[in-house]
Amino acid sequence: MVVESVTKKFGATMALDGVSLEVPAGCVFGLIGPNGSGKTTLIRIALDLLRPTAGTISILGLDSRRRGVEVRTHTSYLPGNLVLPRKLTGRQYINDVARLRRVHGPSDHVELAERLHADLDRPIGQLSLGNRRKIGLVSALSHGPRLLFLDEPTAGMDPLVQQTFRRLVREAADRGATVFLSSHVLDEVQHVADRIAVVRGGRIVTTGTVDELTSQLTRTFRVSFDNYVDPMLFETTPNVVGVAAETNPHDLVFNVRGTAGPLFERLAGFHPCDVHGAEPDLEDAFLDLYRTRT
Ligand code: ADP
Ligand code: MG
Repeated sequence: MVVESVTKKFGATMALDGVSLEVPAGCVFGLIGPNGSGKTTLIRIALDLLRPTAGTISILGLDSRRRGVEVRTHTSYLPGNLVLPRKLTGRQYINDVARLRRVHGPSDHVELAERLHADLDRPIGQLSLGNRRKIGLVSALSHGPRLLFLDEPTAGMDPLVQQTFRRLVREAADRGATVFLSSHVLDEVQHVADRIAVVRGGRIVTTGTVDELTSQLTRTFRVSFDNYVDPMLFETTPNVVGVAAETNPHDLVFNVRGTAGPLFERLAGFHPCDVHGAEPDLEDAFLDLYRTRT
């Protein structure tokens, strides 16, 4: 998929402001951004459910506006606010979606439902919210789509289902499918995505591999020593961008950008007795990326 300078205005609201992205085939691509940053709008434009104010999106080499029918045949979509017909069973719903997508031939939805523990035979109205979303996932994953749009796919799902979900996404990509995931939670996509783009206020703030992005983030390590250690001694350690003494005089707090290797090497000479590292949380990650990129 190639997104070129897509802009979308809703009245005075600039939902997307010149977004360009390239999503290679066979890639699991994660779009991360806080609520209201334009993720759903971008997906809806890609599927031609919404028209852009300016810009184009091509999917599998086809212009998504002019070749909408073909695009939808090869594409599946799990909306973030999934609303399912309450009276149909999962099986009936999945078959209906397949008909709408105009896909034929054998389907793998029974196997998918088993792996996700989705109940295909009860009316959807009787299922819990999490189990309804599983029906949506089975539907999106079945019939081997070449491109999948999954909007906040595992919101409200338990960790075991999330794990199965990641495996299914990986398998789809291994078969050559392109998977486009959106989330406001970094954790939901960082373990499965090959590439990530961060969107904020309708603009792409940064894009890269998960490793590239996390290596740009500042991480914090709290180190306890047996005795007082002067923070000044670490000011020239590579990748250490900040060091501060804690209220407890035997503790130092380090801010590290990139690998923490040089810090650990330097620390070894000072006999640290405990190290506590915190993964950067999403809020920090956004603030950090926003500061450095704009
Ligand atoms: P996200 O999916 O990242 O939470 P959205 O794409 O839903 O963000 O929304 C981006 C912005 O566009 C928000 O400010 C939202 O309020 C606005 N917006 C989205 N859809 C509409 C609409 N149909 N009418 C007016 N404003 C909208
Ligand atoms: Mg959304």
